[in-house]
Order: sequence, then structure tokens, then C-alpha cells
Amino acid sequence: MIEFKDFSFKYKESENFALSGVSLSIQKGDFVGIIGNSGAGKSTFTYALNGIIPHHFEGDFYGEVNVNGLDTVEASPSQLALTVGSVFQDIDGQMVSSVVEDELLFGLENFGVPHDRIESRMVEMLAMVGIEDLRYRNISTLSGGQKQKVAIAAVAALMPDILVLDEPTAELDPQSSLQIFNMLRMLNEKMGITIIVVEQKIMLLSEFSKRLMIINEGRIFLDGTPQEVLKDT
Ligand code: ADP
Ligand code: ADP
Repeated sequence: MIEFKDFSFKYKESENFALSGVSLSIQKGDFVGIIGNSGAGKSTFTYALNGIIPHHFEGDFYGEVNVNGLDTVEASPSQLALTVGSVFQDIDGQMVSSVVEDELLFGLENFGVPHDRIESRMVEMLAMVGIEDLRYRNISTLSGGQKQKVAIAAVAALMPDILVLDEPTAELDPQSSLQIFNMLRMLNEKMGITIIVVEQKIMLLSEFSKRLMIINEGRIFLDGTPQEVLKDT
């Protein structure tokens, strides 16, 4: 369903390729963890999936990225948004509402969900991820872990085929980090959403990922089950 064909990208202002010669496919229902040093190309990989590259960053683009048959160069970012949901590192910048329920409603209203289904979809989503009690809370009063859950729920409510997350636990304590990964596992198992998550916590990745990739200097350095990959490091 996701296919990279010899994909390379160099940012306009940069000397080196952020990603070079990436060829791989990811099947529906997978749970893929991505790890690598700072500057290795992890965020660039996520941008190639949701069309931010090439639509929002200028640079040299080679090869092809296909997501559910959509070529990311041809497809509009809004077409891609219904297929690939993204949770960025800066969730405060990503969230648009002050109250939790409005954050979910905003996406549902803007992505063509039938009007009589919007409220029930919002309520179902909050219940599914166990945050019904946060429905009327002001987002600015939530803990980091609660905010992250709201950001993920708002994107998952749109029922994308694929959910891409860039370091969702970066600022969270171990217990909240575990809760986020349990939530991702639930979305993967119950809704069949393909999960692609960039993460620095190797123990979490090895426990939750079905497939683990190490990116190094813009290339896929290792790719396999967590057992296979960790044996080689
Ligand atoms: P770096 O040394 O920064 O990694 P390279 O110059 O080795 O960058 O290029 C990395 C990858 O980018 C190559 O493997 C190739 O696939 C692709 N690439 C670079 N230049 C071109 C080009 N002119 N046409 C097509 N692909 C290119
Ligand atoms: P990671 O997410 O693994 O830390 P990135 O994908 O952010 O890595 O960055 C890969 C490479 O691309 C790095 O060398 C980084 O400096 C460069 N890069 C990232 N964003 C930009 C940008 N907007 N302009 C120029 N270079 C960039």
C-alpha cells in the first residue's frame, strides 16, 4: 500500500541528501517503528509520506512515493490527508481549538463527514481511546500525555488508512509514553490503521512494532522484525 521507489530528497538550502535511494514497501495493517540519530532523515521520511515533500518543501526530489495508489507528487495534500493522518512533533502548533471536543469536531467538519455522523463519531473516538472525561476540558490545561492523546484522537477520528507520528512521546514520562503506545496498538488492531512511528525509546519500539527500521545518514540501515534488527546492532 505504501511504496518508495529509489526515493531521494535534498532540501533546497542543504548540501547533502536528507534521504537517498530509499526503496521499500509497507503493507496495510503494519506497525512500523523508525529510529535513528538526530539528522538521520526520520522526519523527512514522514514528510515524504504525507506529501509535505514535495508540496511544502522545496528541494531536489528523485524517484517515487506511492500511497494507496496515489502518487505523492500528483495528489493534492488534502487528498493525501484523508489517506495519511499525521501527528507532528509540535502538537501545540498542530491543534487549532481550545476545547477538546472542538478539536475533534474541526477535523470531522472539514473533511466531509456527513453532518449527522459528526457528533457520534467524536463521542465514539473519545470513548475508544478512553478520554471521554476530557471532552469539555480546555486543551491548555491538559498534561503532555493527555494533549498527545487528544492530538492523536483528532487525526484518528478521520479514519485514515495510515497514521504517521513523529516522536509522540518525546516529552512524556515512561508511564504516559506506554499509554500512547497502547493507544496506537489499539488503533492498529481495532481500526486496522497502519502505524508508522518515529521514536527514540528503543524498548517501546521493540515491544510494540511489528517492523523496525533504523535510518542512518539518509539510508535505511536495518529493516526487519525488532528481534532481527536488534540482534544486528
Ligand atoms: P549524499 O552524499 O549527500 O548522500 P549523493 O550525491 O550520494 O548524496 O546522492 C544520494 C542519492 O541521491 C543517490 O543515491 C541518488 O539516488 C540520488 N541522486 C543524486 N543526484 C541525482 C541525480 N542527479 N539524479 C537522480 N538521482 C540523484
Ligand atoms: P531527523 O528527523 O532524523 O532528525 P531530518 O529528516 O529532520 O532528520 O533531517 C535530515 C537532514 O535534512 C538533516 O541533515 C537536516 O539538517 C536536513 N534538513 C531538515 N530539514 C531541512 C530544511 N528545512 N532545510 C534544509 N535542510 C534540512
